[in-house]
Amino acid sequence: MTTSATTKRIGIVGIPPLAIIKQLEAEGCIIFDLDEPHVKRDIELASSYLPRVFCAILRTVIINGLSLQLDRIYIDVGPGKCDCALHTATILADILPETTVITTRNQDSAAFGTPLCTARLPLLEKISAITKSVQSARPYQDLAACVPTAGFWGVPPRDFSLLSLFPDTTHVFGWTRCMENKTPDHQQLEALINPDIPTVFFAQSFCAKTALARHLANKHPHGLYVDCDVTAGNSTKAKIEAFLELSTTPPGSLTDSYPPSSDPLSF
Ligand code: SF4
Repeated sequence: MTTSATTKRIGIVGIPPLAIIKQLEAEGCIIFDLDEPHVKRDIELASSYLPRVFCAILRTVIINGLSLQLDRIYIDVGPGKCDCALHTATILADILPETTVITTRNQDSAAFGTPLCTARLPLLEKISAITKSVQSARPYQDLAACVPTAGFWGVPPRDFSLLSLFPDTTHVFGWTRCMENKTPDHQQLEALINPDIPTVFFAQSFCAKTALARHLANKHPHGLYVDCDVTAGNSTKAKIEAFLELSTTPPGSLTDSYPPSSDPLSF
């Protein structure tokens, strides 16, 4: 990509509405997904602005905001993200006077589909591609769905290294699935599970989604609830590895559809 002094540097938090993404693409902006680490700085730096006991993804947003010299930040604060993001938006606007902070409430309902969530691909690669897909308004390529042997439910974790523990035949559920479908406020899709496959229900520590993750894990016949803060420690990784190794259920059905719905992607 060629850049010039007039190319705008834009940060996004969560999933801004599609209309904004189209506008940013038309303007040729450089987009940074602030939910992911972009700079090697100690996350403790965020503690001047946010409590230590707070979602590590939003603490990462603060570090990125302080480091990337952005022209604008679009931060989704609606039901497709969370109240923690709403308060983080207030703080960003205060501490970054050179950056325009724009809050959005994404309630897009056009389903783009979830081909990556069900494709056969290393999970780390798959979730990286899903997070990248947020920056584009283009439709997805068709990908064949694989027969799943495991499930990952949750948001893209702050520490992607835990994703390398899963088999390539892992289907993705939860908010990450809503992300690929470009419908972040789709509660029915977020609650979709496949009861036939062992599933890890992941949430960031201190996030309200811990409640839903643990609830679904308790209901699931082969579910494991896990929450992590900044990084996934060895004991968490060992727990996931043991769970996946010891869950000797046969491959699940190709269609992830529980609770049943005629078209789980649509509202
Ligand atoms: S993990 Fe939870 S608290 Fe953190 S940004 Fe996402 S929804 Fe908000």
